Amino acid sequence: MAEKMLQFVRLQQRQPDKRDAGARRADWAEVYQPFAQEAAATQASRCSQCGVPFCQVHCPLNNNIPDWLKLTAEGRLEEAYEIAAATNTFPEICGRVCPQDRLCEGNCVIEKGFDSVTIGAVEKYITDTAWEKGWVKPPMPVRERAQSVGIIGAGPAGMAAAERLRTMGYQVTIYDRHDRAGGLMIYGIPNFKLEKDIVQRRQQQYAEGGIVFSMNVAIGQDITLDALRAKHDAVLIATGVYKARDIDNPGGDLPGVVPALDYLIASNRKGLGDSVPEFDSGALDAADKHVVVVGGGDTAMDCVRTAVRQGAASVTCLYRRDKTNMPGSMREVKNAEEEGVRFEWLAGPEAFFGEDKVQGVRAQRMHLGLPDATGRQQVEPIPGALFNLQAELVIKALGFDPEDLPAAFGEPALSVTRWGTLKVDYRTMMTPLPGVFAAGDIVRGASLVVWGIRDGRDAADQIHSFIQARGESPAIAAE
Ligand code: FAD
Ligand code: SF4
Ligand code: SF4
Repeated sequence: MAEKMLQFVRLQQRQPDKRDAGARRADWAEVYQPFAQEAAATQASRCSQCGVPFCQVHCPLNNNIPDWLKLTAEGRLEEAYEIAAATNTFPEICGRVCPQDRLCEGNCVIEKGFDSVTIGAVEKYITDTAWEKGWVKPPMPVRERAQSVGIIGAGPAGMAAAERLRTMGYQVTIYDRHDRAGGLMIYGIPNFKLEKDIVQRRQQQYAEGGIVFSMNVAIGQDITLDALRAKHDAVLIATGVYKARDIDNPGGDLPGVVPALDYLIASNRKGLGDSVPEFDSGALDAADKHVVVVGGGDTAMDCVRTAVRQGAASVTCLYRRDKTNMPGSMREVKNAEEEGVRFEWLAGPEAFFGEDKVQGVRAQRMHLGLPDATGRQQVEPIPGALFNLQAELVIKALGFDPEDLPAAFGEPALSVTRWGTLKVDYRTMMTPLPGVFAAGDIVRGASLVVWGIRDGRDAADQIHSFIQARGESPAIAAE
């Protein structure tokens, strides 16, 4: 079958077709159309089956990419799925939301000269097919274990850890302050990147496999961390990072100037059929408004593209650096441009103005000056270069920091780094509290779904080792 591979010299790279930008603006469905089997097999056959596969090295999960590409090219999809699922808890989600241009595909050796293999789209295709064919099964322990693990946070890190621990036979309960599982996969990332039923069907399978979801429970408010430690043999903190970074500009407290996550959560909830008073009142609805989004990361791109779909009169992204220095994925910037978003590069807000609610943004033109100690060019205002933008809705998308978890959990022994992320022993992923582990964004800082999965899986293995080393004691005592 070797002749099936190495087709990159003959075949062009083809990503799945994108829906027309006009149609995209009018609904919330995903942007990329699925590959047909033939296209997936053909694209997979472009892989040169490298002896040292840099795609795999640069995938945070070290997915066995060359093997599942070869099996896909040969039409052996069930085996391809087994291999994809062996290292990745949510291959269909990573295939949709990973910034592949910076990870696997960006490091594919044929990228230089021939354009990379379309790894993410094939991974999505394999796992979507597995769901259709019924190959994806709930976690099935070979034997039950008496010990239990409590997981705080139902995002990718918590869910990945839960799946692995349950498969090992542990009794697993996930606690989350939201009403739905998925973390930012359900309430952050919009539908047009990741349709919600894709996340929800995973939760449903986990529940069928015996994982208990205890929703609408905020640890630190409804239950203490101490109580969880007394109840479970180990606890995993996977709470993510949610404190929105702010800018201190005049007018920042005017109604109509809103944080990105409030805006996105309202939109996602609405899409899920919830009643959302802040949306229904118009406060978090962009319809017919001129919208300005401040920031240049992926969250900013999600906000501009959400505003387009809500029927905004105009959508402008204000970013203080230029396009090449933008932190967001170029693929998402391109999608936003196609959908009609206007970008004001090298410009930042100087003030928000309006009488009793925001009516506009006074913006300052910038230029890039000398590099600082990190090598990044400094942003400097151009004196006198000010301009106004009309805006009835301003969305601040400037990134996230961790909440003060030691205070929220009433547990000063949980130590934090100078960025506020939880400190863990990197070999064991355990915090200074015995039996309390941490994983995902709360340790790493705002990151990616794929890193959350990696951390969750690693934490599960560490928790297993910890419990085994302690023997059969029924529950860890709160210390
Ligand atoms: P989270 O997903 O944040 O989950 C944490 C969970 O903990 C939440 O459900 C929360 O409700 C719960 N929780 C918090 N505190 C408590 C408490 N005290 N008690 C109970 N429960 C609690 N990454 C990508 O790879 N691709 C993308 O396209 C992408 N787009 C993004 C778009 C947006 C708008 C945002 C904000 C992020 C995006 N990310 C993306 C980043 C990615 O979503 C996160 O890195 C990832 O979800 C982190 O996983 P986590 O499990 O650590 O935390
Ligand atoms: Fe690429 Fe992400 Fe899949 Fe890894 S998990 S192969 S980085 S798409
Ligand atoms: Fe195939 Fe590219 Fe990975 Fe090499 S680096 S194994 S060509 S996908």
